[in-house]
Amino acid sequence: MNEKEKQGKYIDISNLSWHQVMELYACTRCGMCVKWCPVYVQDSRITITPKEKLRAFRKIISAQNSLRRKYFNPESWIGRILCPKLPTEDDIKAAAAALYECSTCRQCHFVCPSRIDTVELYEALRRSLVDSGVPHIDTHLPMVASSKAYDDPWQQPRSQRARWTRVAKKEGRIKAIPNMLKPPENLPPPKPIRE
Ligand code: SF4
Ligand code: SF4
Repeated sequence: MNEKEKQGKYIDISNLSWHQVMELYACTRCGMCVKWCPVYVQDSRITITPKEKLRAFRKIISAQNSLRRKYFNPESWIGRILCPKLPTEDDIKAAAAALYECSTCRQCHFVCPSRIDTVELYEALRRSLVDSGVPHIDTHLPMVASSKAYDDPWQQPRSQRARWTRVAKKEGRIKAIPNMLKPPENLPPPKPIRE
């Protein structure tokens, strides 16, 4: 697979530290994290639990970096028996969607007997996905467009950030507009956006 063919189909985890790679494989699947995950409490799909997120990435990364795929031709009869199957684009998209459906609350880290630093690991894997050209999930697209247009994810200029407080004050839901929400004066121009 050349570099262009790899885009979005091969997850480059070279940004992970050795410690993080070991953490990925340190999950004992004890399930302790499941009942403490607030996202899973609200949406009981097993794929979004911490242990399943880690399992999905282990499967992808193990298949893509399998030594057996290096030593045997995966298309040969022996290779077809011995080599793990490469993940499909749908497998990668599903793993990415589950990874992004995490509030990064860190609760799974605090209850994990293996003390996996889950949130640091999830964030490193998110970076791997972006660096590997895995397409953004649909719900991210407006935020990406907004970041390019306004340098923020709120889909409006920074100067409008506190607009909702004016409505809330008018409707009597708050007494005064908090000072910290008033747009600062003389804002420096936004930094150039990274493509
Ligand atoms: S608590 Fe830790 S070791 Fe247990 S399943 Fe969750 S991530 Fe894996
Ligand atoms: S950090 Fe994410 S996966 Fe872990 S408990 Fe919080 S929402 Fe769930």
